[in-house]
Amino acid sequence: MNDQDCIFCKIVAGDIPCFKIYETDHILSFLDIGPVNKGHALVIPKAHYKNIWDLPSDLGKEILSAAQIAGDAIVKTTGADGLNLIMNNHKAAGQLVFHAHLHLIPRFEEDGLKHWGQNEYDSMDEALALAQKIDKMIKGID
Ligand code: 5GP
Ligand code: ZN
Repeated sequence: MNDQDCIFCKIVAGDIPCFKIYETDHILSFLDIGPVNKGHALVIPKAHYKNIWDLPSDLGKEILSAAQIAGDAIVKTTGADGLNLIMNNHKAAGQLVFHAHLHLIPRFEEDGLKHWGQNEYDSMDEALALAQKIDKMIKGID
């Protein structure tokens, strides 16, 4: 399965070059061309799946396993103090390439990057009602 207009499918096919760091039968990991920090890499399935919901869960496990292996090597090679795993799903979440991928971003104590700010619930009742609604959604209860 692949998408002719997809830049990551072209990378998998070898039509666009990449700096590969890790590969299995189903997974490819390579350096992001616009790194947040040097060593920032992507882990992608070789087959074209759009996002986390499109992705078969077995392949999700392989992606996570590749992230552990490649992430460990990135941290050791760059001397990073930490590692962020980020997956953007849909445009509103910052997804620009619609071929599922996990970002591996090495982090350094003094890299100056900030996490998103946090919000708050109006009340504990609001949080409880929302948690119950989501739980019912998962269980398929109206
Ligand atoms: P998204 O915003 O979709 O989660 O992230 C897409 C990422 O792909 C971006 O961080 C961007 O720098 C990276 N990217 C886009 N085109 C290419 C490319 O041709 N080669 C590589 N190595 N990375 C790319
Ligand atoms: Zn693709």
